[in-house]
Parts: sequence; C-alpha cells; structure tokens
Amino acid sequence: MSSTVNTPSATVSQSVLRAAIRGGQPLLEITDLPQPQHFINGTLHPASSGKFIDVVDPSVGEVFAQVAEGTAEDVDAAVAAASAAQPAWRSRTPKDRADALHRIADRIGENAELLARLESTDTGKPLAVSRDDVTQSIDTLRFAAGAVRAGTTAAAEDYVEGHLSVIRREPLGVVGVVTPWNYPLLMAVWKIAPILAAGNTLVIKPSEQTSLSTLKLAEIVADLLPAGVLNVVTGYGPVVGQRLSTHPDIALVALTGSVASGKAVAAAAAVSLKRVHLELGGKGPVVVFADADLAQVAAAVRVAGFWNSGQDCGAGCRVLVHESVAEDLVRRLVQEVGTLVIGEPGIGETVEVGPLVSAAHFEHVKGFLDRASTAGIRAAVGGEALPGPGYFIAPTVLVDVPAGAECAQQEMFGPVVTVETFSEEEEAVRRANEVQYGLAASVWTENARRSHDVAERLEFGTVWVNAHLVVANEMPWGGFKGSGYGRDLSIYAIEDFTRTKHVMHNHSR
Ligand code: NAD
Repeated sequence: MSSTVNTPSATVSQSVLRAAIRGGQPLLEITDLPQPQHFINGTLHPASSGKFIDVVDPSVGEVFAQVAEGTAEDVDAAVAAASAAQPAWRSRTPKDRADALHRIADRIGENAELLARLESTDTGKPLAVSRDDVTQSIDTLRFAAGAVRAGTTAAAEDYVEGHLSVIRREPLGVVGVVTPWNYPLLMAVWKIAPILAAGNTLVIKPSEQTSLSTLKLAEIVADLLPAGVLNVVTGYGPVVGQRLSTHPDIALVALTGSVASGKAVAAAAAVSLKRVHLELGGKGPVVVFADADLAQVAAAVRVAGFWNSGQDCGAGCRVLVHESVAEDLVRRLVQEVGTLVIGEPGIGETVEVGPLVSAAHFEHVKGFLDRASTAGIRAAVGGEALPGPGYFIAPTVLVDVPAGAECAQQEMFGPVVTVETFSEEEEAVRRANEVQYGLAASVWTENARRSHDVAERLEFGTVWVNAHLVVANEMPWGGFKGSGYGRDLSIYAIEDFTRTKHVMHNHSR
C-alpha cells in the first residue's frame, strides 16, 4: 500500500538493471533474526512438533532462516494465555490502552531499519517499500490509539418513558488473526492496532513464508504489553489457521489472504458461529475516460500497478481505457514502465521492483503470462521472467486484451498490468464490475458529473477519482463481493472488533 503517489526517480533503463540484479549486499546479520519459536504468554515457546519451516530469500532463492511449525496444541496454549490476559486488558481505560499502543509505535520507530531490512530479505521487497510499511504501521497504531479515546455511539436517552438506554461498545474477547505474505508487518499491525485498542487480546498466525517481522515485532514489544495480550504462533494455514478458525474460545477470526483461504476460514468458523472478518483478493480496474490527464494516469499506474512488484490486493492492474485514447495511453505506459528499476533490495535505494515472493508464486505469474501469449495477447513491454537466481518477472504491460480474458479477470498478483478498451461509459462500468472481486478501483476523468456517477456505480470498497492506491489510516479499507467483508483501518475497524450492548435502566418511580 502506498501512502503517496510520488514516483521514485528512475534514470536507468530496464535492460541495464537486469544485469545488476545480483549485485546486492546481504541486509541481515544472523543476530537480527528472531528465534524459530512461537511467542506465547510474553515469552518464547518452542514448537510442540519439534519441526521447522524453511524461510527463503526470494532475491536469491536460498534458505536463510527457519520458523517453528506450529500445531493445534500450540494454538491452544496461545489461546489459553490470551483468554487469561483478556479481563485485565479490557478493564484498562482507553487512555491506558492508547498509551501502550503509542509505546509500541515508538519502539517500532526505534527499530525501523531492522524491521525494514528483515522484511526486505524475507519478501524481496525494495527497501523503500519496507520503510513505507514501517512508517505506515506506526501511523496505524497512533491512529487507533487516538480513535479509541474518542468513541461515538447513539445518544444515551429515554427512548421508552422512564427507561434510560445506554450503548456499550465491548471488546469481543480473544481474536484470531491470519495474515498474508505481501505486507507481513503492515497487515499484522492493521489487525493488532484496532484489536488491542478495542480491549481484545489476540493470537496471530503470520504467513508461513514471511513470519519474521511479526515474530520480531512481538520480541521488541514484549516488555510493553502484559503477558498473553499479543501471541504469535507460526505455521501452516490448514493447521494453525484452521485451529484459530475452530477454537471455541476465539470470538472472531480475521484473515487477510486469498479467496480460497477466506472460504476455508468462513466454513470452519461457521461450526462455532464465531464472527469472521475477511480481507481477500482484488483485481483493481483503472477506468480511463477520453478526457483524463493521460500523463497523470501513466505515472500513477507506474506506482499503483508495480508497487511491491504488483503483489498488492488493491493494485491498479487492469486498465480499461476509452478506445479513442488507448494508443496514446499505452505509449505513455510503456515509457513509464520501461524505466522501473528492478533488482534485489540489497542493491540500494534506487530499486523499485523486487522479485516475487516465492518460486510457487513466480510459476503462478509466469503461467498467466505464458497462457496470455498463447492466446495472442501482446506484451508491449516485459512479458517474461528474468534470468535467475531469484524470482524476477519483468514489469509488463499486456495490450490487445479481449473482454473476459483470464489475465484481466483473475488475480495475478505480479508486476503485470493489462489494457482493455471500451467505447461507452455504460460499457466501462459494466466491464469494470464483471470480476468476482470488489476491493478497489479508480476512475480517471475531468468531468465532475462522470466522476460522481461512475464512482457510485463501481462495486468496490474503495474508489479513487484521479488517483489509485493512496491509503489513509483514517479511512476504511475492505472489499465487496469476493473480496470479503469487514473493514481494516479507521474507526470502522475498531467497531468491527467490538460488540454492541444495549443497557436499559428503568428509573421510573
Ligand atoms: P493465502 O490465502 O495463501 O494465505 C494467507 C494466510 O492464510 C496465510 O497465513 C496462510 O497460511 C493462511 N491460510 C491458508 N489456508 C488456510 C486455511 N485453510 N485456514 C486458515 N488459514 C489459512 O494468501 P497469500 O498468498 O499469503 O496472500 C495473497 C492474497 O492475500 C491475495 O489474494 C491478496 O489479494 C490477499 N490480500 C488481501 C488484502 C486486503 O486487504 N484485502 C491485503 C493483502 C493481501
């Protein structure tokens, strides 16, 4: 998620940078790594399985760390700790909880470079992206800390004569959290901040591929929270995530991940009727009308389509452009995308696009490109994997994409933008909405009537006008349709992690 639309300066061409992919320095010392253990009840906790999961550096395709392979028993121990810690944590005042969140934000700030280097090694993301993740994590915590002290609700009032009604927003209890690999630290904090602010305790399972920053976060804030308030259990989704979804003492399970994982979590949670909060995939259309500022569109897509190597649920990855300006826009896109600086994070500040997160995900994106090519879809720039080691795909713009093409319908989650054309406003809206997802979209026009009408008719949880992928902590983030339900960020997230109780006092004499 980018907090700005500024494009980092790029002066070197793609072909030059391909040669530089392997020129990076290691970003970590062995002592920077967290222990391969869970974090339960305020302390390190060895995996009951005695087994470990290898962690791969996607820039070079080599194992550089391990994490514990968690079991259902490990989850049970963490839930017991979170349950024991809950009554004391919820009874603290909003100010006390807010103070704790501010201290966590401070501590993240003190460890910002370490967290950024850890994240970049684990995910391959450029240092600029990791640093932005850290900065945003801090702001997410500070927003939640402020917001929980300024709660609003229906007015206390005698809605029935002689009976005073009061609304209480109560914590839910223990919350289970499951996070993905694309923004490991940021997605963890997007949950941790509102969940703790609202007075819940939690057990979080990071992606088995990218658990290090979440473990490190738990380690560095261990002295700032009472034992058991924040617990981390690492491991696989169908084991650890599944147990979080079924555990009888968990009140809500919140997942950020794919549609398939969302369905698995919702189905498992249904057995105990626990609440579910789902932030799932996306396929963000960028709807460009003939009157749009095409230079601005191309510069914005350079960021929104390729930030974090396009591994962003809100990425602007599906351009729908009016046929009269399609050629002009494609020319500008090719120019912009051709200047993206590709490489491993260790090369330094100039890198803008890193590798994909894993060999499996690399094959997933490559498969899309191969099938698009077989279907006669042309790459105006990129379109292929780069020589290894590491899981690099060239930033790509696919053109001549017919309506309904797989590459424009399914979430690819890579550095690939597709371009389709339309002729009428009605068609643009219909085509933008014809995907299973409903997370984020943008409309580009100078026409005020159109910007309001089209934004209203697009079925996405966020719609930008003349911008894309600009996120504010004060505003909600979440999807419609196949992108799930529930909201991250803003006061809506804090509300999602509370329950509403009506208390009515009979004061009639
Ligand atoms: P994923 O679904 O493969 O994994 C996400 C998490 O779910 C991991 O921790 C995984 O171990 C766990 N998991 C897998 N199967 C599970 C199961 N049966 N029960 C419980 N947990 C299970 O997703 P990913 O590949 O890590 O992340 C990419 C996906 O996340 C993309 O689809 C992307 O759009 C989505 N995403 C959405 C948002 C958003 O805000 N909507 C943000 C970031 C990523």
